[in-house]
Amino acid sequence: MSDNWIELVPEHPRFIPDAANQRQARERLAEIAPTADEIEIKVSERVVFFNCGSNFGRICCPSCGADIPFEWWQDRMDEDYEDGFKVAAYTAPCCGKESTLNDLDYEWPQGFGRFAIDVMNPKISKLDEKFKRELELILGTKLRVICRHL
Ligand SMILES: [Zn+2]
Repeated sequence: MSDNWIELVPEHPRFIPDAANQRQARERLAEIAPTADEIEIKVSERVVFFNCGSNFGRICCPSCGADIPFEWWQDRMDEDYEDGFKVAAYTAPCCGKESTLNDLDYEWPQGFGRFAIDVMNPKISKLDEKFKRELELILGTKLRVICRHL
């Protein structure tokens, strides 16, 4: 049996919301997805990578839109990881513009961070824009919505 997650990650990789706001967001998500298997708050000491599992298709350059070769990306992932991800800027192989791994256009979205709220088997197909905005207000940050399928 396969599982799905909706994972909410701040756009800024090092941002961690206040504990009270984390709790409030979790309670709100429990109302939005009342039959979810589990809603988990994840806070980590270091920056980790939140991936979309088998939804991972391709990677594009945010500056010029060219496809980023998977091998190049894998090398930068190795280079960037040192006791957690540094989320440093790298020169894109296509146009030479600088970009962090977090800024690349992932299909589907993925991201880096120290904080996430994870909704396991939410039984809602997607998070409505209005709920996303509401959760952004609660948590005090722009959010990236990652749909992971395993
Ligand atoms: Zn480019």
